[in-house]
Amino acid sequence: MRLVLLGAPGSGKGTQAALLKAKYACAHISTGDILRQNLKDGTELGLQAKGYMDKGELVPDGLVIKMARERLREDDAVRSGFLMDGFPRTLPQAEAFEEILEELGRPLDAVLLLSIDEEALIRRLSNRRTCRACGRIENLLSMTEKPMPEGGAAVCPACGGELHQRDDDTESVIRNRLKVYHDQTAPLVSWYEAKKKLRVVDASGSPEEILRKIQAVLG
Ligand code: AMP
Repeated sequence: MRLVLLGAPGSGKGTQAALLKAKYACAHISTGDILRQNLKDGTELGLQAKGYMDKGELVPDGLVIKMARERLREDDAVRSGFLMDGFPRTLPQAEAFEEILEELGRPLDAVLLLSIDEEALIRRLSNRRTCRACGRIENLLSMTEKPMPEGGAAVCPACGGELHQRDDDTESVIRNRLKVYHDQTAPLVSWYEAKKKLRVVDASGSPEEILRKIQAVLG
């Protein structure tokens, strides 16, 4: 299985990639996660990327393409396929991605466009929380039945770790990320459509409902 998950921030790419990974046992490649790990580790790449990420801008193509190329060459991705989550995000990235896959002799099966209206995106993003311990993505809106400690941070239902809000999930940065998506990433929709790779999935509903729609589309 070699898939790209395409969609605006908050459309559920990371959540669906985690569910699909559990089903198909392929590599989940999130360029955002790799960059955040580099930031945490204080690497040169992390330092270069930080300013862009804080503002919700895209990290320059050259840096991201190099990072994706290295990750795609790793054993698990070559052997078992991959779910790309957040890459490619610009036309130059999509073109470089094609070249990398050609070099590897591993063509793409499909590009899934997770389609959802903008109000729902903003609601999802501003309520999104990530577990500091296990990386699980949760949404406060769907966690109302789970008690939270008085005045404290919400707790991960999987491991009990602290759920925190990503630095770039604040309202002003969210709006900028959506603008960047429309300006720079949305053109990939018609690009992949012309290549007959695009499959559109309605990304409203619960993660399990969306997963079922994805599986129906993949056949
Ligand atoms: P994400 O977790 O996919 O929402 O990515 C978080 C941030 O990382 C983005 O707002 C960008 O600053 C950066 N980023 C992730 N993937 C890419 C990419 N393919 N190209 C450029 N910047 C990226």
